[in-house]
Amino acid sequence: MESATMERAERVIAHTYKRIPLVLTRGSGATLWDEAGRRYTDFVAGIAVCNLGHAHPRLARALAEQAEVLWHVSNLYYTRPQIELAAWLVEHSFADRVFFCNSGAEANEAAIKLARKHFKETGQPGRYRIVSMELSFHGRTMATLSATGQEKVRHGYDPLLEGFDFVPFNDAEALRRAIGPETAAVMLEPVQGEGGVRQPDPGYLARVRGLCNETGTLLIFDEIQTGMGRTGTLFAYEQFGVEPDIMTLAKALANGLPMGAMLAREQVAAAFGPGAHASTFGGTPIVSAAALEVCRILGEGEVLAHARAAAAHFRVRLEELKARHGVVEEVRGMGLLLGLKLAVDGEPFVHGCREAGFLINCVQGNVLRFVPPLIITPEEIDALVACLDRLLARAGKGAG
Ligand SMILES: *Cc1c(COP(=O)(O)O)cnc(C)c1O
Repeated sequence: MESATMERAERVIAHTYKRIPLVLTRGSGATLWDEAGRRYTDFVAGIAVCNLGHAHPRLARALAEQAEVLWHVSNLYYTRPQIELAAWLVEHSFADRVFFCNSGAEANEAAIKLARKHFKETGQPGRYRIVSMELSFHGRTMATLSATGQEKVRHGYDPLLEGFDFVPFNDAEALRRAIGPETAAVMLEPVQGEGGVRQPDPGYLARVRGLCNETGTLLIFDEIQTGMGRTGTLFAYEQFGVEPDIMTLAKALANGLPMGAMLAREQVAAAFGPGAHASTFGGTPIVSAAALEVCRILGEGEVLAHARAAAAHFRVRLEELKARHGVVEEVRGMGLLLGLKLAVDGEPFVHGCREAGFLINCVQGNVLRFVPPLIITPEEIDALVACLDRLLARAGKGAG
């Protein structure tokens, strides 16, 4: 079913996305509407971006108020929303300083540059390599795709940036062997998102922190997908008793406006002096005002408490699906970053859910990923689970 809008898009937009044939026009909370007026419950949230849902009234108001005051002046000057936002992030995290940019990839670029610069400035210029994880996802710029442990992201772009090593996620012994005299940092997602919603084994992240401490290696957590309440706490690292030296944020930071951030401890952040790194749009007042309101809402606590309760409910319901259907191999994830690993291709389920009015997506071919707005209700979760139950029963029969 091709609408005129979609035909037009195919003529004028680069073919880098395999899109679902839906033209979305409006959203409210966890609900989206398409061109034809059909409604969908959103378990994608713009890929873990709209954590507070669509068209949140407080965010709309904060944005509208700032829109009438000041949009952009560049980082040649100080602006209040940026300062307030940085202060909030510092107060609520391990970090002492924040660098603002416009996307996840840019935040990770900043982290990679800072790790290298830190060792140049502290008299160990030979330490420049980064160890990251197989099946990781860190972005699409040349440095961040070089740090990404997935061939499909890297393919066709040689020569890649030099200095990246890969080890399997959850294999501390392999990491111990991979950290050498040239290693500057270990970089990983506390829960792998694009890699198939894979959570760390008990004790793994503490072991990673220990290995970094023993070798003087920096630890970078890419919390671009796991941050801002997605896993039930503001940042996922809080649940593991482990703090990184550098952390990157983006996706949900401004609930859909483009913003990335790289946070670091003082001893590390000190390597970035005037002129060392920059971004024209980074932390611009209009986007910072929206992000600051996101932070204030999350800081009030109700949304996080709701997300934890919704996640617990969702998990129980997904475990029931696993018990009832042989094609479900595993329930994965943390908080409202959840996955259902299937023994079969996941695409037909994405399609079936959409026809029934639910948006979900699929990663790594066979892992259904659920990243709804944190305000999702138990009723909305139950409705999706009932739909999945029907689709899984049909798939089970098909498999014989
Ligand atoms: C989405 C994502 C990125 C890249 O973010 P962009 O804003 O698309 O550049 C990096 N790391 C993780 C963990 C992500 O989920």
